[in-house]
Amino acid sequence: MAGNFIPQTSAKNLEVLDLPDCVHLTDNFKCEILKVNECMGRECSFMLNQKQKSKSYNLWKKKMNELSESKQKDIAHTYFNGKMPWKS
Ligand code: SF4
Repeated sequence: MAGNFIPQTSAKNLEVLDLPDCVHLTDNFKCEILKVNECMGRECSFMLNQKQKSKSYNLWKKKMNELSESKQKDIAHTYFNGKMPWKS
């Protein structure tokens, strides 16, 4: 992960330290969700750190559990092979 990167002496390696704490940043410092040549940095609208990801996931689970049982079954059938990951 970018946060654990130990810089070497070249200027190029030091640039890695400027990358954001984003769950979509791969070990090769590429973006795994956007078709971009390099990470867009802290100004990126899709940047998400681990804390934000957990909060978002918990909110999604809460919202899914608030839907009617029939709506939950429809969504489970359509998108999750009949499973309801928001129930766990
Ligand atoms: S900040 Fe944006 S471009 Fe960079 S890894 Fe995250 S989502 Fe991809």
